Amino acid sequence: MDYAVSSDALKGKVILVTGAGAGIGKQAALSYAERGATVILLGRTVKKLEQTYDEIEAAGYPQPAIIPLDMKGATKQNYLDMADTIEGQFGRLDGVLHNASLLGVISPFDQIGEDTYDDIMQVNVKAQFLMTQAILPLLHKSDDARIVFTSSTVGHSGRAFWGTYAMSKFATEGMMQVLADELSDTHIRVNAINPGATRTAMRAKAYPAEDTDLLKTPLDIMPLYLYLMSPESKDVNGQCIDAQPKK
Ligand code: NDP
Repeated sequence: MDYAVSSDALKGKVILVTGAGAGIGKQAALSYAERGATVILLGRTVKKLEQTYDEIEAAGYPQPAIIPLDMKGATKQNYLDMADTIEGQFGRLDGVLHNASLLGVISPFDQIGEDTYDDIMQVNVKAQFLMTQAILPLLHKSDDARIVFTSSTVGHSGRAFWGTYAMSKFATEGMMQVLADELSDTHIRVNAINPGATRTAMRAKAYPAEDTDLLKTPLDIMPLYLYLMSPESKDVNGQCIDAQPKK
C-alpha cells in the first residue's frame, strides 16, 4: 500500500506524541512537525524533550510545546490537568500518538516479578487508558481527529519469554479496537501501528547481539505514521497495520 502524504498534510494540526524524546517517538514528532503540525512533546526526561524541541525549532517547523510527565507515576488528575493545559493553549487536539512504552525484561513467565508486571501495565496500558479518557473531549473538538496506538508483533501473537510486554500490547490492541468501534460514527479514527524491528534503544535492549546496521531506522518507517495521522486515512479504522512489509 502507498502511504504517501503531501508535504503539508498535517498543516495546522495539533498532535500529542508520547515518548517524544527518543527513538520512534522523537522521529514521529519531527516528521509531524515537518508536515506542518504543532507537536506537543510528552515524555519523562526533560533534557531529551528539549533536544527534540530544539531540532524542530532549528528546522523552522511550527513551534512545539513540552509536557514533562512520567507515565509510571502519573495519576488520573495529572492527565486531566494535562488536558486542561492543552485546551488552554490550543483549544483542541487533532491527534495523539501513543508511543511511549516499557519493554521490561525478556524472561520466563514464572520469573516475571510483580513489580515488573505492574510497571509495564501502568506505562503501556493504564497510562494510555487514562490519557485517552482525559483528551477525548479535546479530540471531539477537532473536525478530523486521529488516535494512533503502538503495538508489536507480540501484541497479536504471543511469544515465549516476551511476558508482560506482549500481554500489554495485546491489551493495547484491545483498547484500540474497542475505541475504534465506539467512535466509528464520529470524525475520530483509531488505529495501531506495529513498527517492526527498528533501530532504537528498546530494540537494542531486546536483541543486544544483532547487527543494527541491518535494521530499519525510525525515519524509514515514518510513511505509515504520517498516513495514519493525516486526513488521507479517514476511511481506516480499528486496524493494526505493519509499518514494515513482512519478509
Ligand atoms: P525507546 O525505548 O527507544 O523509546 C521509548 C520512549 O518512551 C522514550 O522516549 C522514553 O522516554 C519513553 N518512556 C518510557 N517510559 C516512559 C514513562 N514512564 N513516561 C514517559 N515516557 C516514557 O523505544 P522505541 O522508540 O523503540 O519504541 C517506541 C514504541 O514502538 C514502543 O511502544 C515500542 O513498544 C514499540 N515497538 C518498537 C519496536 C522496535 O523495534 N524499536 C518494535 C515493536 C514495537 P525516555 O527516553 O525518557 O526514557
